Amino acid sequence: MKVQVNHDVCEGHGKCQAAAPEVFELRDDDLSHVLVENVPEALKEKVERAIRLCPRQAISWAQDA
Ligand code: SF4
Repeated sequence: MKVQVNHDVCEGHGKCQAAAPEVFELRDDDLSHVLVENVPEALKEKVERAIRLCPRQAISWAQDA
């Protein structure tokens, strides 16, 4: 599954990176960037946690087939 960050609402709090550093990286643009194309099963729980913790609800699973 793919995960996406909506940069229109992301405010760079970095909670996602704290929850799942393997998946999210806060960069110099103060936006969270997704590091992995497809989230492996082992990291899904961490991503779910990041989704819950994001104060802007900027993170979501991508709707792909
Ligand atoms: S927690 Fe949400 S608002 Fe904060 S950097 Fe991550 S995606 Fe952006």
